[in-house]
Amino acid sequence: MNVPNRVTEILARVGDGGLPDEGDLRLLLELPHRSAAAGEVMAAAREIAREACGNRAEICVQIGLNVSACPMNCRFCSFAAVNGVFPDPSELPVGDVVERAVRSEAEGANSIYLMATGDYPMARFVEVGQEVRRHLRSETPLVANVGDLTPTTARTIADAGFCAVYHAARMGEGRETAIPLEKRLRTFRIAREAGLQLGTCVEPVGPEHTTDEILEKILIHRAAEPCFSGAMRRINVPGTGLARHGQISELRLAYLVAVARLAMGRFLIGNCTHEPNVPGACAGANLFWAEVGPNPRDTDRRTERGRGMDIAACRRLFEEAEYSVLEGPSVIHTRPYAGVAAAEAGACGRHVRAASRIHPPPVTAV
Ligand code: SF4
Repeated sequence: MNVPNRVTEILARVGDGGLPDEGDLRLLLELPHRSAAAGEVMAAAREIAREACGNRAEICVQIGLNVSACPMNCRFCSFAAVNGVFPDPSELPVGDVVERAVRSEAEGANSIYLMATGDYPMARFVEVGQEVRRHLRSETPLVANVGDLTPTTARTIADAGFCAVYHAARMGEGRETAIPLEKRLRTFRIAREAGLQLGTCVEPVGPEHTTDEILEKILIHRAAEPCFSGAMRRINVPGTGLARHGQISELRLAYLVAVARLAMGRFLIGNCTHEPNVPGACAGANLFWAEVGPNPRDTDRRTERGRGMDIAACRRLFEEAEYSVLEGPSVIHTRPYAGVAAAEAGACGRHVRAASRIHPPPVTAV
């Protein structure tokens, strides 16, 4: 067994508060994910993730609001009109959304996400968001997973009580979707200007994606200075245009989770993976989603009867990876990324490790 010196050097540099450069990340991405060197990479990412969150992982609950034949036509998504999975639109009554949000909070969700299709009216989304916000505890982070933003819609979302948006420059953006990459990047900027945190992820990764494209997305997301990053694999929904490519394994996904974690350096608490799995949690993921309602990876309008996991299932997976789960409101969604600035300021070594160590508030762990 042999771990190349360059890999050891990269891991040491990240451990000392530096950031891997593009060449470093390319080298990591090209390591065979079953190799001993990849094992070292995953172990290093795990250590950084555990330290960043004080070994207290987080679980968000994502509530899908609606089903539609979405004209954005992302070919991996069950809502895309072109895939024809859901012929009829539908929408959860706002009372049901509120009930699910409040129940999730009571069951231990650290944050609540509201997710809508790319064509869902923004005014309606804001209305539902305000109603949910009114019923949640004020300290519970509410996060929007919606279409691209304008300065006006971003401000409206922030005013409605959302603290963050989930947004990504996805694999094949503009090629496998009808959304130009520039539009996604503009939304990143607009969200930030509106005072919204950005959560993001390298997704949805399939076996056909090259090192170049994965690297491009990692660098884009790092430059956006998100409050969390991570990696998610594409689930092959029957009937969707990309299902013919197959899926990557949980081990391959775990390796990408590790590289995404290391790309952000030590200056970030959150690193996600989806769908929740133990190998990912053992390779640097400390953030999972439980899901209810419509979901772009499912053919059932209520994913809780299908692919969606509940909070208890996510908690069990984290416990199998020897994580505790944070009790109370998310820390991840309230701390901005400081890595690029710190690295550019020449931060390195023990001094920076001490200065940048993130201290989540004292909470009772399970
Ligand atoms: S991923 Fe979002 S924008 Fe794309 S088709 Fe699905 S719902 Fe529409």
